Amino acid sequence: MKYTGNISPTLNDLNIRKRNEIRPIQQEAAEAVDRHESIFEENSRLKHILKCQRCNVNNVNALFLPCAHHRMCMKCASKYDVTVCPICDRPIREIVKTFMG
Ligand SMILES: [Zn+2]
Ligand SMILES: [Zn+2]
Repeated sequence: MKYTGNISPTLNDLNIRKRNEIRPIQQEAAEAVDRHESIFEENSRLKHILKCQRCNVNNVNALFLPCAHHRMCMKCASKYDVTVCPICDRPIREIVKTFMG
């Protein structure tokens, strides 16, 4: 009995193999771009959130309790003698200074 198995890969096999090798790299590149964009978006979104709603200059560092809203800096919170949360209108029992980073 003669061995007739196909040992060397056909051209088609090679093409499939090549495509399979290339695809993950392209996918990775696309994902990297996606990641970069989403990090950038997240960053600008966070930056916007982290600015004090009142003065829009200082970073937010006053946490209102018990409602837990976090939209104002300590300066504004004490300057305007905030006793009611400007976001939800609930009375503030305590203002906790928070630290970022
Ligand atoms: Zn402020
Ligand atoms: Zn609130």
